[in-house]
Amino acid sequence: MRHLRYGIIVLVVAALALGFSGCRGKPDPEADDVAAVEDVAVVPAGPATERRVLVLCYHAMSDGATATYDVPTGDFAEQLALLDEEGYESVLPAQIADYLEGKGDLPEKAVCITFDDGPESILTESKPLMDEHGYTGAAFLIADSVGGSGKLTWDQVRELEAAGWEIGSHTACHEKPTKLDADACMAEFEGSRETIAAEIEGDCAALAYPFGLYDAGVVARAREAGYRIAFTIDRGPADWTTDIMMVPRQMLVNGNSLKTFGRWLEQEKLHLEDVTPAIGERMETSAPEFTATVADEGVSPGELEISRDGNPVTYLIDEATRTVTFTPELSEGANNLRVNYYGSPRREVSWVVVYEAS
Ligand SMILES: [Zn+2]
Repeated sequence: MRHLRYGIIVLVVAALALGFSGCRGKPDPEADDVAAVEDVAVVPAGPATERRVLVLCYHAMSDGATATYDVPTGDFAEQLALLDEEGYESVLPAQIADYLEGKGDLPEKAVCITFDDGPESILTESKPLMDEHGYTGAAFLIADSVGGSGKLTWDQVRELEAAGWEIGSHTACHEKPTKLDADACMAEFEGSRETIAAEIEGDCAALAYPFGLYDAGVVARAREAGYRIAFTIDRGPADWTTDIMMVPRQMLVNGNSLKTFGRWLEQEKLHLEDVTPAIGERMETSAPEFTATVADEGVSPGELEISRDGNPVTYLIDEATRTVTFTPELSEGANNLRVNYYGSPRREVSWVVVYEAS
């Protein structure tokens, strides 16, 4: 497995073996055999530790919620209690960014609690419960709908920020970023970042892709728009191997049991290497062949379950190279490829594949 570590660049200026000592122009007997360490620079090349962080994605919350994406307040209270009982500390997107950039560490048990779409219930329902556990979270706002019906107002956004929450962008209009042309996508990313940054104290450095949709172009534009970190709704925890512009989040929906929630807390990321076609590459055929190497020792490639939008996908295994090959039948638009390992510990990874017939 590839472990990114601090890269230490040491520039060594070799001894001038012939007794010639640089600009002084005269032989210097004392310079013989001296290897001078001219400069030592520590370049952050990635995380220095092997941490894992479960990022949760919520929307609105209410008592007796019935809508699919609304979580009943009582369920959230139970989930928070379990996190607290298990010793989880809450972290913000900026801390995850620091960690992934090798500028800071994360607690051993880290959870990041995020909310999309900016519903007012963040302040009225979710935050009071989180306060009881000393947890803070992140709100990803749809910039153009702040102050709208059922949404936070800018004053409420500032109230969250003052309480230690991080405010991020969920774009201006919540369009599917993979369906926008490059200019429209940039306008959504850049415009919302500027609108939000103008209203809050801090920077708006984190983005949550609407509908969790991305491809390589979308990711490049998020970076170009000035975001430091971006979140998907891919499954499985983030860890030291996670791409900072594609951080997975486990989305919570109405009806997730506490048992399921507990399993998400326990599971690890499934590490695939050399995924081909690369993650983010747009497909022009409906049945492309994928290959990936299973990097986790102890995970037998034959025990994986691979699926496309919940439909099982059969695969071939090369035991010698631990490589799996599979050919999912893609639907037009966005597809979710998911690989699960149900051994101990459970492991999961998923990613978005966009297919557009040419
Ligand atoms: Zn959304």
